Amino acid sequence: MHCSTLNYKDALAITGRGPVVRSFPMVPGIDLAGVVTQSDHPAYRVGDRVLLNGWGVGEKHWGALAEQCRLDGDWLIPLTNELSAHDAMAIGTAGYTAMLCVMALQEAGIRPQAGPVLVTGASGGVGSFAVALLARKGYEVVASTGKQEEAEYLKALGASEVIDRKALSEPGKPLARERWAAAIDTVGSHTLANVCAGLRYGGAVAACGMAQGLDLPASVAPFILRGVRLIGVDSVMCPRDRRILAWEKLSRLVDSELLGLIARDITLDQVIETAHALMEGKLRGRVVVNIA
Ligand code: NDP
Repeated sequence: MHCSTLNYKDALAITGRGPVVRSFPMVPGIDLAGVVTQSDHPAYRVGDRVLLNGWGVGEKHWGALAEQCRLDGDWLIPLTNELSAHDAMAIGTAGYTAMLCVMALQEAGIRPQAGPVLVTGASGGVGSFAVALLARKGYEVVASTGKQEEAEYLKALGASEVIDRKALSEPGKPLARERWAAAIDTVGSHTLANVCAGLRYGGAVAACGMAQGLDLPASVAPFILRGVRLIGVDSVMCPRDRRILAWEKLSRLVDSELLGLIARDITLDQVIETAHALMEGKLRGRVVVNIA
């Protein structure tokens, strides 16, 4: 194994703050990039470069924060020549999920000319990639964050406006002023309810996260009066063809300058302290765990 990474779900598992681990003992780690050292699978040979995201690894199956892993070959996808193992983990499940969200909005017919697209939890891993990918696809991006000190970082990623997440995190009205053509929400709870209430007629939100909470204290008003669409995005059990498509798009959209801005490196023995910092909301962007 060359690299892994630290996602929100890994931090939940390591700190015990969420019921991610289904059986103990468990090795956490939902993402990996590395080289096959032994294979019984017809599609893979020793020396092949591979990538894995999700499929319950680090939850039900021993995971990626380790020097070696034994995995079902059907879960792997080949690592293309455009991406190093390090780059793939700088992107990780966070970047891949952000790409799935962008694809979902595009498939819902949201074009750049429709108007601004809001990203919540913008300084986090999924949020950082959502801002950057949308901007690179030509969308006008509004970034919502609790870290006003990261405004310059978010603008460097491509946000044209940065708003304070407090404006979205308290209970709100069923319908609010129509502001955004679409949104990518990594936060859930009151934030997602307020995002739905503030979408323009016919708008769509790709919802993938629950950093504020798993609840959704919303009204049906935006759906039945403005035709707003709420699209759920899942990376864990996402079908293989769609994963490969998302990673192909990522390898075309992402470059080393962007990854240098978003990601930093840690070692395996720094994982536990970093997981606590992530849960306390002290991190920005992504963390690559160097294992080799
Ligand atoms: P991060 O911890 O990197 O980012 C989460 C961000 O959410 C924080 O940086 C912060 O951003 C914001 N935030 C944190 N706490 C709160 C709060 N109480 N209220 C409002 N905003 C808050 O996590 P990831 O980006 O890795 O993951 C984000 C979410 O997406 C998680 O819930 C994760 O479980 C989910 N996820 C889902 C996937 C799927 O398949 N559906 C795949 C990957 C992730 P800021 O300070 O900028 O506001």
